[in-house]
Amino acid sequence: MSGLPRPRVEPVDGLPTHVRVYEVAPRDGLQAETDILPTAVKAELCRRLYDAGSRDVEVTSFVPATWIPQFADAERLVAGLEVPPGGRAVALVPNLRGLHRALDAGIREVSVVVSASESFARANLNTSREGAIERAEEVVVAASDADVPVRGYVSMAFGDPWEGAVDPATVVDAVVRLHRAGCTTVAISDTIGVGTPGLTTRMVRDVLDAGIPVDAVALHLHDTYGQGLANVYAALSLGVAEFDSSVGGLGRCPYAKGATGNLATEDLVWMLHGLGIETGLDLEALAATTAWLSRVRGVGAPSNVATAFAAAASAVDTPNATGGSR
Ligand code: MG
Repeated sequence: MSGLPRPRVEPVDGLPTHVRVYEVAPRDGLQAETDILPTAVKAELCRRLYDAGSRDVEVTSFVPATWIPQFADAERLVAGLEVPPGGRAVALVPNLRGLHRALDAGIREVSVVVSASESFARANLNTSREGAIERAEEVVVAASDADVPVRGYVSMAFGDPWEGAVDPATVVDAVVRLHRAGCTTVAISDTIGVGTPGLTTRMVRDVLDAGIPVDAVALHLHDTYGQGLANVYAALSLGVAEFDSSVGGLGRCPYAKGATGNLATEDLVWMLHGLGIETGLDLEALAATTAWLSRVRGVGAPSNVATAFAAAASAVDTPNATGGSR
């Protein structure tokens, strides 16, 4: 894999020097895909991500299999994981029962989801917006008793497929309550990818103005309308240094069939490394993971970097393949 392109490094003053890239492919990515992968393939995906330098990997979800069949193997997957020193295997838990399953399986860090909109809470969390926050607060209290850190997600923070625009005040309220309950980080989540840099700036500023420290803020961005990296840059400029992404862009948008969903980890890392920002991640290993998973699933990946690397590798194999393009 040597000889592949690399971003030219040109730092910009005032941006974070190190960014935590929180990998969501095995959980959020697979949840939005229709095929159910064998446990061994999921375990191999996690192993490759840790090998590529990922340290924060959301590996599965302890939801009832009747809700999401994709994660019926959560216990088996976790039992077989080898997490490297300094690495973390995070599991999403929907409620106290999910938390207890996760703890029994050996998980030592969990995440919870609440909704900025009423419709998403009803459709996906089987409760009201308020009910979801109260359920998350319960989980945070119980997890804290077990010394287990909790990461929070506020879904539909930038817009909702049923309600349209979401009031930033409801987002701030949810972030503040999760943070006050004890979440270490709260990921403001653009579940349908409708955020633009202006809206991202507004949202992050409102959250910081509400007293949330910047190191407790993460962004979970989607690339549905091609705005993912622009939104990352807007947030970097305000000091945010934790971003979610999914290797190969795994995880389509469940509310816009065929559209791109999660921001691809390789694309995020290309930009961060180009800015001279450390991530600890190996771009080539990430792109190789995407190529491997595409082969295994028989499905292409919406990742610009992985696509460009594959083209560069085949151009090296067949030097005249471009036919003298200019
Ligand atoms: Mg997502």
